[in-house]
Amino acid sequence: MKTIGMLGGMSWESTLEYYRLLNQFSKAGTNENRSCPCIIYSFDFQIIQELQQKNDWNGLSDLLADAAQKLENAGADLLIICTNTMHKVAENIQTNIKIPLIHITDAVAGEIKSKKISKAGLLGTKFTMEEDFYKKKLVDDHQIECIIPSGDERNFIHDVIYTELVKGIFKKESRQQFLNIIRGLKERGAEGIILGCTEIPLLVRQKDCNIPLFDTTSIHATAAFKKAKI
Ligand code: GLU
Repeated sequence: MKTIGMLGGMSWESTLEYYRLLNQFSKAGTNENRSCPCIIYSFDFQIIQELQQKNDWNGLSDLLADAAQKLENAGADLLIICTNTMHKVAENIQTNIKIPLIHITDAVAGEIKSKKISKAGLLGTKFTMEEDFYKKKLVDDHQIECIIPSGDERNFIHDVIYTELVKGIFKKESRQQFLNIIRGLKERGAEGIILGCTEIPLLVRQKDCNIPLFDTTSIHATAAFKKAKI
């Protein structure tokens, strides 16, 4: 088993979920006390969020690349960035390390294609929903078209992520509103919904919906685990 390097703390609520899943995958199907070899570099999320708000993506890129190098030097064999949003700087991180980066979008695209879906709704931070780095990769590399919620809905989702979900606050009213937004995307032709923020799966679950949901946290953790087992 290879060692998984994790850039985490963005937020720690979802990093915990990655850590739990990776350990559960290791233990599944064995009576042994298996757990997952991994090294977590956990950021202070306040610092990350302030740089995002200042639009200092070069600063963020340097910060994450430096931490990725530390994980590589500490013995990680592969790397995951435990957030969708920070994949905005994924290319720069990969150029600064020799170990492979398991890209969250590639992992999610694999799952979407396995369900023969070509048009998906995308929920995430405004960076993820509105900018090109996520949607363009899905279209260019995987021929998956994304549709996004309206401007007001995007503001609502973004605010809930930063004022509730990353703080570990999960409100019934917010869940209901997310479900309404998902229904709207379905009516506009989405065949599945990408929960493109690693905290959203903590709020919205498949049992709440009658459209396939793509939980980026669990899909990404699964992809990393499979790669680490090879
Ligand atoms: N975890 C979130 C994501 O998957 C948002 C936090 C962040 O800004 O990284 O996009």
